[in-house]
Amino acid sequence: MWLSCFVPEPAGGSWSWWGLASAHPVASRTSASGIPASKLVEAHGSFASATCTVCRRSFPGEDFRADVMADRVPCCPVCTGVVKPDIVFFGEPLPARFLLHVADFSLADLLLILGTSLEVEPFASLSEAVPKSVPRLLINRDLVGPFAYSPRSTDVAQLGDVVQSVERLVDLLGWTQELQDLIQRETGKLDGQDR
Ligand SMILES: [Zn+2]
Repeated sequence: MWLSCFVPEPAGGSWSWWGLASAHPVASRTSASGIPASKLVEAHGSFASATCTVCRRSFPGEDFRADVMADRVPCCPVCTGVVKPDIVFFGEPLPARFLLHVADFSLADLLLILGTSLEVEPFASLSEAVPKSVPRLLINRDLVGPFAYSPRSTDVAQLGDVVQSVERLVDLLGWTQELQDLIQRETGKLDGQDR
């Protein structure tokens, strides 16, 4: 399951994606999707980096990929302490980046929500964090969360197969060729990885 909120800012034309991934392969695909890291808030952390639990040094996650795939506990090359991927485990606080960017929602022009049950907090409440005048588009298999129990007059729900719905949106935007190019380019990054 993953949830993404597309939050364009009103003046500067910049935007951010909020990503929630509870399945690790989805998390790695999020980072391989071509979205610049500066535009992405991975609310459950990321495998892109790892931190030593003893000396707190930070390392690229790729350094320990072979250990993880071989079921070996990654060890710090400096102090031999256990190295943990920068994923938020149960009971751990959310990343500071999450709290920093919650403020973006009040500035949004549009909120896109895709592929989610909208049941896990605090992420589910983010759908209510945009002003009531801001359109919310839900692309999902089913009607969920506030789209079901307290819809707004500006809500739009595109229900059914999520991939087909995204392809339809992309087509309406005239981005089909750009998407195909992106998929072709980024698929190469997943080759040789755990898919
Ligand atoms: Zn260390």
